[in-house]
Amino acid sequence: MTPLPLSPSLPAADGDEYPPLSALNDLLFCARRCYLHRVEGVWVENAHTLTGSLDHRRVHAVKDGDLVTGRTARGLRLVSHALRVQGVADLVEFPGGVPFPVEYKRGKRRTWDNDDVQLCAQALCLEEALGVTVPAGAVFHVLSKRRRDVPFTPALRELTRRSAARLHELLRLATAPAPVLHKKCRQCSLHAVCLPELIAAPREYLRASESLFRAPAP
Ligand code: SF4
Repeated sequence: MTPLPLSPSLPAADGDEYPPLSALNDLLFCARRCYLHRVEGVWVENAHTLTGSLDHRRVHAVKDGDLVTGRTARGLRLVSHALRVQGVADLVEFPGGVPFPVEYKRGKRRTWDNDDVQLCAQALCLEEALGVTVPAGAVFHVLSKRRRDVPFTPALRELTRRSAARLHELLRLATAPAPVLHKKCRQCSLHAVCLPELIAAPREYLRASESLFRAPAP
């Protein structure tokens, strides 16, 4: 297959100041977590984050850099000046010469759309660089070894564009947004730093902590 001329369209330095594609995923998981991590530099590893990093290190061990030399490209640098994001694609396949991005994720299929938006943002980067339409991609779930195809519908493209705009607004805020308690807080590695129960329901926590130190009635 003739190598695609990706390099001239993907300047290595131009998008360096843009936030990474993964910040879109963070934002849709939790805006507060995204702010704490991306603006305040707070990061705590837990089993989920460590295994995720290891999976990606394995995927990126084989790199094609900025050049597509075969039927697949790994570790491809991507940038979108329209969305003002940049990053690295885990894997891009080219069935019939059409780019098909594949993002590796550790967990089972998620119930929220953060992975799909991150993948769609990769597609928009590829479209901007190559001037082609990227109709679909896939999320590869490492634990179940199953691929889930993701069509880049008009609705998903619109959500991705709105998420990128929200991300840039978030990164300009002076303080972190308030926590919103959700069941996903339980698996969040920043839980001990964020203290969502304390901030989201301070009265109950104050009452509980006061009762700890109240002298027992004589
Ligand atoms: S603990 Fe919950 S509210 Fe706090 S950063 Fe994590 S997901 Fe967001």
